[in-house]
Amino acid sequence: MDRAFDYGSKGWGFDSLQVRFILPAQRSWIRALDSKFKICFEKLTNFRICYKALTKTMIKDKVYFMKKALLLANRAEKGGEVPVGAVLVREGRIIGRGGNAPIENCDPTAHAEIVALRRAGRRAGAYRLNGCEMFVTLEPCLMCYSAMVQARIDKLYYGADDAKNGIFSSGVFDNVKHVYNHRITVESGLLAEPASELLAGFFKARRGAGAVERDGLENRCGG
Ligand SMILES: [Zn+2]
Repeated sequence: MDRAFDYGSKGWGFDSLQVRFILPAQRSWIRALDSKFKICFEKLTNFRICYKALTKTMIKDKVYFMKKALLLANRAEKGGEVPVGAVLVREGRIIGRGGNAPIENCDPTAHAEIVALRRAGRRAGAYRLNGCEMFVTLEPCLMCYSAMVQARIDKLYYGADDAKNGIFSSGVFDNVKHVYNHRITVESGLLAEPASELLAGFFKARRGAGAVERDGLENRCGG
């Protein structure tokens, strides 16, 4: 179409009346269509941006983060550690990840939660981690819960109960809560089943291999 008008301006116009009368009409129609298309395109683009932002927020719920912690537990198991994983989240973003690693690090304190807290602290450049949520596949022990209190995290989600060493299930919390100067909101049982299955499978395999399980999850070194 444009070429036809160009030709017209240079004196090469079409003789056909049909072409002369139809072209301006088509041109305005195309302009109208073009602007409508642009509006539609902009609306579609805006919709896509909104949809992406919405799905991003919706997908990243507590289950999403616990699944990330389970992946870290799986990774810990592959390294021969008791499978426990943790992620620390602030404003919907993971700022610290940790897999249980006392054997790998030769560090009795390298529980998944501690590893995640240390990494988050380094990343945030702060030892207080207010506004953070901890997702851990296994109920924390006294040491890890106390570290979370020191870090001032807001909320704790955990999966499987730990009857022997878990701070709540063992009854320890009721005896020590008076020393804590910070309160953490706790939600238990989040994806507890896969977390328990992972641990049960780990210890079953160890027993099958002839390893002696002494104190279950004590120090999370698997005996
Ligand atoms: Zn611990």
